[in-house]
Amino acid sequence: MVRVSQIGSTKIVGVLALQGAFNSHERALGEIDVTTQEIRTPQDLASIDALVMPGGESTTMSQLLESSELFEPIKKLIQEGMPVFGTCAGMILLATKIIDGRDDQVSFGAIDIDVQRNAYGRQIDSFETEIEVESFDEPFHAVFIRAPRIVRAGRDVEVLATNGPEIVFAKQKNVLVASFHPELSFDNRIHKMFVKEI
Ligand code: GLN
Repeated sequence: MVRVSQIGSTKIVGVLALQGAFNSHERALGEIDVTTQEIRTPQDLASIDALVMPGGESTTMSQLLESSELFEPIKKLIQEGMPVFGTCAGMILLATKIIDGRDDQVSFGAIDIDVQRNAYGRQIDSFETEIEVESFDEPFHAVFIRAPRIVRAGRDVEVLATNGPEIVFAKQKNVLVASFHPELSFDNRIHKMFVKEI
């Protein structure tokens, strides 16, 4: 089957819009002149060349991915190599293993990391800090909101940024993940980096 996205030359980035901070990703992508498509049903996937999974509540997104019947088709697209970028809850959805998730919570197992939900202590469960990102000349202001922690990363995972000892931005093949919210920093370098992959 020829996908609609293969016909035109304009690339379209899907933004999973079941729950969470998808609007901010649409704004960030719009600012760098990328066309976006909100993804709520399997039909919405036909036109996209890449997919962003936003922050929000990963347990709710997990349930909605199943009830909307999006889970299997998205899994297939990722396996076929579609570029995907998960931020915060989106990163949890892409992980191999979730610690402190709900018993029925599903994940795509698309990047070889184990993540612990809500892993930062109470006082600092939301914080902002400057991080050094590989290939950026200037630090990036990263916003962490009830962030997950990457507690294990496999050998094939490329580390793109750390905050102290913690990996906070990583990549494996077509899968990019951040434990923070680049869409909230009014700095679109990370979105540009992702779009370059398409
Ligand atoms: N704590 C949320 C979860 O487990 C993630 C937080 C976020 O996306 N800002 O899904």
